[in-house]
Amino acid sequence: MGYQRPQTPKEAWAALLEGNRHFVSGEPDHPRQDVDRRESVAEIQRPFAALFGCADSRLSAEIIFDVGLGDLFVVRNAGQVIAETILGSLEYAVEVLKVPLILVLGHDECGAIRASINSREGNLQSQGKFIHNIVARIAPTVTKAYESGKKDIDEITELHIHDTIDELMSRSTLIAKAVREGKLGVVGANYKLALGEIHPLVTHGEIV
Ligand SMILES: [Zn+2]
Repeated sequence: MGYQRPQTPKEAWAALLEGNRHFVSGEPDHPRQDVDRRESVAEIQRPFAALFGCADSRLSAEIIFDVGLGDLFVVRNAGQVIAETILGSLEYAVEVLKVPLILVLGHDECGAIRASINSREGNLQSQGKFIHNIVARIAPTVTKAYESGKKDIDEITELHIHDTIDELMSRSTLIAKAVREGKLGVVGANYKLALGEIHPLVTHGEIV
């Protein structure tokens, strides 16, 4: 097949962008999704990137980046909120699987962000006890946004991606060190549901 796994942050980011271009254009290759690939990655996985994204059903990682089996190490929850298990999963991807890139992916019209805004406004309609754990993780960003006069969901979504990257970099010394050593790139980006496009907002490490 001649497939070369991207090795550097720069190569990994370029591969994600290229795959996303295929998806956006409506002409995906669906690479590395056949029986040969399935069998060749059964022994060992060597994904070229870790993706930490919202659990939204429209953010299907391998589809929107037009990649295949064993390509992405994917961690998702509603609103892509940092938790210790998330940090542990991403550290595993970096330390053990040696991924050269972490992509944190939010998106427009996010239900978790909307719920957090509704909570701030005093009208969160939710009975779920644990849904409040998600909202509580986004609340500081909403508070900060409101205090600076930003109430637009798109602005708050972008702030949340920035805050999530800051938290990732400050809490995981392993990840911050890998970035300093040039082994890892970290990108925070926003995904546009209707267009299928990725818009990078914040980067650490050499990715271009
Ligand atoms: Zn979402």
